[in-house]
Amino acid sequence: MHDARHGAGCGRPVAEGDMAALRAAVEEAELPPLLAALAHVSGDMSLLRDELCPPLRPMGATIEPQGGMSPEAQRRARGLILEKLLWLRERGGEPAPGLGPPMLEKIIAFITGGASREYLSLLEHELALDADHGAPKWTRDEIAPQRDFSVVVIGAGASGLAAAHRLRQAGVPFVVIEKNCDVGGTWWENTYPGCRLDTPNYAYSYSFAQKEDWPEQFSAQSEIRDYFLDVSRRLDIRPHIRFDTAVVAAAYLEGPGCWKLRLRCADGNEEVITCHAVISAVGQLNQPKFPDIPGIERFAGVSMHSGRWRPGTDLAGKRVAVIGSGASAYQIVPSIVSQAAGLKVFQRSAPWMLPTPNYHDAIPAGMRRLFQEVPCYARWFRFWQFWIAAEGRMPFVRVDPAWRQDGSVSEKNAALRAQLLARLQEQFSGRPDLLAKATPDYPPGAKRMLRDNGVWAAALKQDHVELLTERIAAITQKGVVTADGREHELDVIIYATGFHASDFLGTIEVTGRGGITLRQYWNNDAKAYLGIHIPHFPNLFCLYGPNTNLVVNGSILFMSECAVEYTMECLRILLEQGAKSLECRQRAYQAFNEEIDAANAGMAWGVADVSSWYKNQKGRVSQNWPHSLLHYWKLTRTPDLSNYELL
Ligand code: NAP
Repeated sequence: MHDARHGAGCGRPVAEGDMAALRAAVEEAELPPLLAALAHVSGDMSLLRDELCPPLRPMGATIEPQGGMSPEAQRRARGLILEKLLWLRERGGEPAPGLGPPMLEKIIAFITGGASREYLSLLEHELALDADHGAPKWTRDEIAPQRDFSVVVIGAGASGLAAAHRLRQAGVPFVVIEKNCDVGGTWWENTYPGCRLDTPNYAYSYSFAQKEDWPEQFSAQSEIRDYFLDVSRRLDIRPHIRFDTAVVAAAYLEGPGCWKLRLRCADGNEEVITCHAVISAVGQLNQPKFPDIPGIERFAGVSMHSGRWRPGTDLAGKRVAVIGSGASAYQIVPSIVSQAAGLKVFQRSAPWMLPTPNYHDAIPAGMRRLFQEVPCYARWFRFWQFWIAAEGRMPFVRVDPAWRQDGSVSEKNAALRAQLLARLQEQFSGRPDLLAKATPDYPPGAKRMLRDNGVWAAALKQDHVELLTERIAAITQKGVVTADGREHELDVIIYATGFHASDFLGTIEVTGRGGITLRQYWNNDAKAYLGIHIPHFPNLFCLYGPNTNLVVNGSILFMSECAVEYTMECLRILLEQGAKSLECRQRAYQAFNEEIDAANAGMAWGVADVSSWYKNQKGRVSQNWPHSLLHYWKLTRTPDLSNYELL
């Protein structure tokens, strides 16, 4: 993690041989953000010519390279870039000049293809060029120095670390309670073979802790885990974390207006602590869900859930089953196929796969070199990735109510389906048996789409691999019995069957005002106002809460940062107004969720007859955010106090 705001690599002489290397580096570079970075560092806005502006046509199955710039525009851009790189070298190691707002706006307009001005503050927040825009503009010492006020954050994953950072900046006393022995949440827990990001890496980082040297386009689990580890160290969060400690219960005490939390400590003992506000950052995807298959406890071989991989598991020469074909299975199967003697993949529904040829690729050496050489290039590259994915494939998954074709929800969705299908046909040519099984019968976007660089199909086509679509009838001591009566003898069963995603805060008995528990209040249908607040539960803030999950656009860290900043604003109000508690009003909660439900019904994942982890057991989409990033950003800037009761 670096502060990329000031240049590195300036002032070196340009040797002849080096020129060739520079040229080669520029060949590998992502050009629009490089033009932006060079305009930024040099102040030369003539680099941002109209004819070099990336057209950024809406993405389909794939994303156009270089934002869709024509080959001629790319050639001219490379020429200008080389000239400017030489200028940069000659100019020596002076810091980049300050960038006034009009220039910054011009660069943003260029690289976004003319984003609406409505986006400007959001984009400046993501760029974080001259300041950390999400930092609280207050401290507890300034606004309530005498007030006894403390916060407990539950969880030191991606959202919990962001909350801890902001609390620390505001000088609000807090402790983070983490059940694991280190930070990273899902990136700490998921250690199965092949685990890696499935959203582009640069955009999967905090705006306030950007990293310019990611090794891969979609880095592996250990890299992401180490990033969070590094953030927790650099931002001095670790002294605030109690590891190996789980919150098992939390109860709100109306009189004093505080929360009482029961902890299970590392030594097995229980402890009670109190605080004035609780921030839940417990995540959505960490309670393993085993399938409800008769006999599951009888299997005599080795079995494990993907989210609880047993370190050191040796699959060499073993007969292995993977149950499931979602995001986890999809990464596991190609990673273990060469070890197993036999591999059976039990698939209930086929996944749609987005062609992503660079899924396992390293960041090219030329790019890495330019990240070091050009001040802020990495920052503009992250910004570029963020912007490209901001709307992402949203237009392709909106339901057209008049559309009547099975397997798609609109003309655009049908076009996407055709593109994805063509890729499947290409990959399974010569294997009509596999093609039939691997072709989904539901619209693209109704379930999580996976990143495909060909390794899934290549694994399934191997002779010792079988893709089974028969229903699993039972599990026996020896293996799996399918509904056709076949018994599949196995040494190892891997359950890649997902998580109890919609059981929010399910491992904690949370009791609110009037003695009502969250379980009672929600009745298996978790909802929250803005994904954050629940009536009857004052001073409880959820991060990555109900209906804040993104599935075809954006980075989830953006949603967490928004929710954290909103939470900090609520804490400011509590402290400034000397209020004991802040509680969301029922009507705000209800109106918000009615609107979200209506919007989700208009998305592919809201289609009634498709099941997925996006829906809870009542059939309601309880996970997904159906709107733009901009919409959540606007909603989470300033709390509307008419939606709250302050006591
Ligand atoms: P998942 O997407 O919920 O997949 C579970 C799989 O198990 C599905 O294929 C499901 O089939 C199948 N299944 C469930 N019960 C079954 C049964 N009784 N018999 C046969 N099959 C059964 O879970 P996941 O793969 O762990 O992924 C969950 C989410 O975690 C992802 O969508 C993603 O957001 C996140 N994740 C991300 C990454 C990453 O790369 N960053 C990696 C892994 C996970 P049906 O589809 O028919 O229900």
